[in-house]
Amino acid sequence: MFSPLALIGVVVVSCLMSVAILGSLLRTSVPGISRWCVAYALLAAAALWVLTAGAQPRQFVIIGASLIALVAALLLVQGTRQFFGKGPARHEESAAFVTAFVALVYFTCVSPNIDARVALISILLAYARITVGTLALRHAPRDGARYPYRFVAAATYLGALVHVARAVAVAFGVVPQMTFLQPSPWNVLFVGLAIVTLPCMSTGMVMLAHDQLVRRMEQLASIDELTGVLMRRAFMARANVLLCHALEKGSPLSVAILDIDNFKAVNDGFGHGAGDRILTHIASVISARLRPCDLFGRLGGEEFAIVFVDARKTDAVGLTNALRLAVDRSPCEGVRCTFSAGVECVAAGDTLAGALARADAALYLAKATGRNRVVTASAVDERDVVKSD
Ligand code: GH3
Ligand code: MG
Ligand code: MG
Repeated sequence: MFSPLALIGVVVVSCLMSVAILGSLLRTSVPGISRWCVAYALLAAAALWVLTAGAQPRQFVIIGASLIALVAALLLVQGTRQFFGKGPARHEESAAFVTAFVALVYFTCVSPNIDARVALISILLAYARITVGTLALRHAPRDGARYPYRFVAAATYLGALVHVARAVAVAFGVVPQMTFLQPSPWNVLFVGLAIVTLPCMSTGMVMLAHDQLVRRMEQLASIDELTGVLMRRAFMARANVLLCHALEKGSPLSVAILDIDNFKAVNDGFGHGAGDRILTHIASVISARLRPCDLFGRLGGEEFAIVFVDARKTDAVGLTNALRLAVDRSPCEGVRCTFSAGVECVAAGDTLAGALARADAALYLAKATGRNRVVTASAVDERDVVKSD
């Protein structure tokens, strides 16, 4: 019942299922999926050929099925590189696979040597799996779920271990010399482990693809396409988290609302396209000068907001003023743009909405008193406006 032939039948079915599952992700255009899909289809084809070879010449089947399996292994590696945004092919790697195939033909037809053949194939398949697993580990995100990456690594390293064990066992004569299809316990063990690790690997690849899709969706939902900064909803969500931390720790936190001055006139005078580029430029000037701990987002139109972590109101005024001067001094496409800002600090028991509303009132005063200036919320009552350039 557990003959290698029966188990190879299971390999065919599991590879075809992997093709179906990976194939369902083709329309997402996640890079690398098509190579993974073809690789599993080739593995299914190679196994099916071995299974149905019947009276075909043995050497012909061995060489043909091995060639298909090696191409599949190469495609798995290339697909993984592509998935992680790298060029898929490596000349030296392809050359090594071609050389190994020539050696395989030699050990099959010219000077038949089963041990050399098994060792050669095992080493190449182990290399392919280790490369896939290492790529996954190396590209595991620092800031998110690493589970899919570790899963792929575990599945591939386990598979590689099987191949290495087989090569070592054959090389040191631990396993009696035998062909692949002999119904020995060793062959059953090796093919059985392949049955476990191959679908595990494709499951891991599906997990990787889903992880990339989730990241893409998160990116689309939280990053403003034009300026590359956080959109309002994502900004508010993260700002609320920072506010809670600050209130818990009792550390100061300030907010600023920035609005570009006379931007309608910029659009009217230079066109909407230039307006877009100027908006992007201003956002990048501000992003580049913020402290890493601060939070920056686009509230809408030409209005932005900043959360200054660990900053009292006077610190926030100083930081915002420095940003104002930086923007003022870096014209874009020959157009000099400025912004006005309202700054407020968060008090105990405060809400983000409350602090932003007070900062907005200060911004209103900054506009009313001449623009290109920073105003604090307390100044709204005292009519005290900060402008230091
Ligand atoms: P103020 O100094 O009082 O803020 O004057 P303003 O002209 O900047 O203010 P107003 O609210 O009258 O106009 C804002 C303009 O910003 C109008 C709108 O066309 C422009 N704007 C908003 N979003 C974008 C954008 O994404 N791209 C471009 N090019 N313009 C935008
Ligand atoms: Mg404006
Ligand atoms: Mg505005």
